[in-house]
Amino acid sequence: RAKELGRNNYQFYCPAMNARTLERLRIEADLRHALERNELVLHYQPQVDVLSGAIVGMEALLRWEHPVLGVVSPASFISLAEEMGLIIPIGAWVIRTACLQNMAWQEAGLGKLRMAVNLSARQFTGKDLLQSVADALEESGLAARYLELELTESMVMNDVDSAITILRRLKELGVHIAIDDFGTGYSSLSYLRRFPIDVLKIDQSFVADIALGADGAAIVVSIISLAHSLRLKVIAEGVETAEQLAFLREHGCDEVQGYFFSRPVGALEFEHLIAQGRCAMA
Ligand code: C2E
Ligand code: MG
Ligand code: MG
Ligand code: MG
Repeated sequence: RAKELGRNNYQFYCPAMNARTLERLRIEADLRHALERNELVLHYQPQVDVLSGAIVGMEALLRWEHPVLGVVSPASFISLAEEMGLIIPIGAWVIRTACLQNMAWQEAGLGKLRMAVNLSARQFTGKDLLQSVADALEESGLAARYLELELTESMVMNDVDSAITILRRLKELGVHIAIDDFGTGYSSLSYLRRFPIDVLKIDQSFVADIALGADGAAIVVSIISLAHSLRLKVIAEGVETAEQLAFLREHGCDEVQGYFFSRPVGALEFEHLIAQGRCAMA
């Protein structure tokens, strides 16, 4: 009797598992064609100077506009793209599109802003990275100093010596390097000093904790002071409230980014934001 029940249960769950597997296979198959079907788009989120309120840069954030599923967030398909090896062509497309868009905005007289682009681990260590960055700069005509590449701590700490080599070559091209989600990884301070980087981005979890009291606030203050003592610029991510902004301004954070100013928006909407010149500051 128990055996029979077990078997029934098994039969009951089996189709559901198949459905999940099928859905994943379907998404994998669709992702393979997303680029050529023009389903990938970049959204842009402004980076704002803490003191002046001027928009000084933006971060390009990838979106997949799936014909059936709607907008798919990168959190759910970037790692799949990594596993499938698709991150290399997709990543190259992101760099190229971001450079072309930034140059188009500069030529349209919308100002000289810096464009930040996220790199994935496989992209960072892949053999094509330097070439695809150089190609994107050449094709777009964008000056390298207006391109910033965002890496995470784990990407550079995994193999410190080869990371330093890659970073040096990127710096020779003239691009800027930022460490994203700073504070969540395990980078050691002695290594941090050796990396040729320009920017630390304070992870949004610490910014969210500012209001909760001493600990979150203390971490934010120490990252700002660490960055400045290494002569790096510091950007806070995930700024959502006027209180967080006031705290960051008081403690000398250089730039801020978050829903308080704007969500990531499509290119047209971003043009309207730039045209307004600045983001509302409390
Ligand atoms: P990230 O680079 O740390 O980007 C910040 C994420 O926080 C973005 O999520 C952004 O929309 C979100 N965010 C911005 N302001 C706020 C705020 O005030 N509050 C909150 N709660 N969230 C905020 P998104 O766009 O879903 O991207 C998630 C992650 O996916 C990114 O984290 C990045 O690691 C990765 N990613 C996005 N685009 C690309 C890409 O083109 N290539 C690669 N390799 N990774 C990408
Ligand atoms: Mg980022
Ligand atoms: Mg981040
Ligand atoms: Mg992140």
